[in-house]
Amino acid sequence: MCVLSEILNVFFPKYCPVCGKKIIGKDLICLECVTKIPPLPFQQTNFTAKWYFDEFFYRAPYSGVMGKIIRTYKYIPRPSLSHFLSDLFLELFERFPPPNNAVITHVPITFGSLKEKGFDHIKRISLEISRKAGIKSLSLLEVSRQTKGQVGLSQMERRTQIAGKYEVIRKRLYKTSGVVVLIDDVFTTGATVNECSRVLKAQGASKVLVYTLAKSMKEN
Ligand SMILES: [Zn+2]
Repeated sequence: MCVLSEILNVFFPKYCPVCGKKIIGKDLICLECVTKIPPLPFQQTNFTAKWYFDEFFYRAPYSGVMGKIIRTYKYIPRPSLSHFLSDLFLELFERFPPPNNAVITHVPITFGSLKEKGFDHIKRISLEISRKAGIKSLSLLEVSRQTKGQVGLSQMERRTQIAGKYEVIRKRLYKTSGVVVLIDDVFTTGATVNECSRVLKAQGASKVLVYTLAKSMKEN
């Protein structure tokens, strides 16, 4: 550890957002918590419903430490955790590499959510992945219609409610190869990424690969 960070640690101690323990050094999350994130691989292949995306990969189940990190990042909020979370995506990309000509995009958030959080949590991660891995990041989607919250809805209810929520920024998509890596934080019923994939395909995307940090184990 360098002298400056030693001094900073004395005057501005950092605490792990997951367990609350003091952190020594530059880490954002303590090592003990990091080791609790299950190892790769996680790939969903046995789809039971009709999906518009071609493949789906996730880094870990949405539970325990993984759930707490994502909730802390989004709801406290703690934007600096995007550095840690983008590294988790990179691990996933290393295990399940996206095609070379792919462009990375993210599920857009509503204006209300942006105002509440103060930052676009997935876009921030997308930009960090782009910077670290040299994959082009583009905002290809926008929210065209505000919907009510999805908590507590079944898969079918979510699918119906979300239809028409997203729109493709066509002039941006047309400049890409048409191979899109779509990232999101949590895959719950899959309704969100499926609707995003549907509109991307309808506007000419040839392939959509979905990568998420976590997958809820309650449904699907
Ligand atoms: Zn911890």
